[in-house]
Amino acid sequence: ETAEIGLIGLGTMGANLALNIAETGHKIAVWNRTRARTEAFAREADDLAAMLVTTVDLSEFVAAIARPRRIVLMVPAGKPVDDQIAALLPLVDAGDVIVDAGNSDWQDTDRRAAALAREGIEFLGLGVSGGAEGARNGPSMMAGGSDRAWAALAPVLQVVAARFEHDPCVAHLGPGGAGHYVKMVHNGIEYADMQMIAEVYGLMRDGMGQGAAAIGDGFARWNEGPLASYLIEITAEVAGSIDPDSGHPMLDLIVDRAGQKGTGRWTVIDAQMRAAPLPAVEAAVTARVLSGEAEARAEGAAIFGEAGAMELPERDLESALMAGKILAYSQGFSLLATASAEQDWSLPLPRIAEIWRAGCIIRSAMLGDMARALAEAPDARLAFAPDFAVALEAHVPGLRRVVAAATLAGLPVPALASSLGYFDTLRQARGTANLIQGLRDRFGAHGFERTDRPGARDLHGPWG
Ligand code: NDP
Repeated sequence: ETAEIGLIGLGTMGANLALNIAETGHKIAVWNRTRARTEAFAREADDLAAMLVTTVDLSEFVAAIARPRRIVLMVPAGKPVDDQIAALLPLVDAGDVIVDAGNSDWQDTDRRAAALAREGIEFLGLGVSGGAEGARNGPSMMAGGSDRAWAALAPVLQVVAARFEHDPCVAHLGPGGAGHYVKMVHNGIEYADMQMIAEVYGLMRDGMGQGAAAIGDGFARWNEGPLASYLIEITAEVAGSIDPDSGHPMLDLIVDRAGQKGTGRWTVIDAQMRAAPLPAVEAAVTARVLSGEAEARAEGAAIFGEAGAMELPERDLESALMAGKILAYSQGFSLLATASAEQDWSLPLPRIAEIWRAGCIIRSAMLGDMARALAEAPDARLAFAPDFAVALEAHVPGLRRVVAAATLAGLPVPALASSLGYFDTLRQARGTANLIQGLRDRFGAHGFERTDRPGARDLHGPWG
């Protein structure tokens, strides 16, 4: 039996991606560390049996794949990927292609690509977004690696990917870790999007006294307008759902502690190391951390009292989400531009916006406009591109009213407020870092430049 492609790791993502690949007409060999999972997969996939080769040991798996082999790994990031590559190395041949489709750290991908190149093995680091549903029906995929690795996988990936109209949501974005890097920033933006949605939910619930069903209705209405997106759509669904056991809104029964697997934190650390401002994602990661400090929050509520009420028209909340979203994406694309220059990747920013239009978690109506704006002014900040500048003029007043009302009531809106701070900082031509420099010089003789002596450096003040 000869399969066209192979996949290792039949967990949530791997099993769904394998079914997707089989269903799109590519015979696929599969292998999983725990045999029982392979057997369960084979039973569930019975109707696709003709397109599947299930194997129980790794050498049998490798032998079942036509050469040059294409082997997709869908195992947890980190050591499992290194271990699995080490186990494969004695079994594969020069010219074979290994694809890491997990959420790997892009620096690990760079390292693995270099190490495998020395063995004559091609490597593709593939960021896959869209969760289980995306993997099954069409994910958005961000590829990084050698041209040969991409050429070998493109025919399969283009069929398996989500489509926006007729355009497959997959692209070769650069060498080595470029694909996993873009996937990391995608996840960082996802954190910011979700945090801003959760903040607006909080205002509706605690500031305006709305029940979950009414909140769901509000989000459903926004999903008909310029905010139309997967996350707004499923917010309406989640807020509108009823727990079948108790009859209560499901949302009211979910513990308010957010999990995280680390890609948001990686994005923030990477942005900090590059001195790229990413305040919306920073606020979102910090909010998830604070969500875990339930005891401290209960104690704080007991000492300081809970927040008060506020009232705002629905359109202001919608504007806050619009402006917040534009500013968060502007920060994300600026980070991509900075990393692209530093790593010498030539990341195609408009194409990245295009492949996020379908299949991935942050898919939204606005991404098409972003792709156009980035194509017209590739070096510009998205926030300054003409169409988005007009949108910000229209929506920032609403964001401002929301942040002001929430702040006066004592309701937390850290991601929305930080994006507003970013916006107001960007429109302040004469900033306040002259005082920072004065202080640094006063206590540490760090020196400054003067407005009236251009070019002269390391000047000092008349103090001490
Ligand atoms: P699961 O936990 O559902 O599955 C993990 C799979 O990896 C299992 O098949 C498991 O095999 C195998 N595995 C674990 N450790 C090893 C190891 N040391 N050696 C070999 N195989 C191993 O994970 P997911 O499918 O959710 O995630 C897989 C990857 O995809 C991760 O990198 C994840 O971050 C990423 N991802 C996940 C998304 C999601 O929505 N879940 C979305 C996008 C990306 P066994 O049966 O033996 O335990």
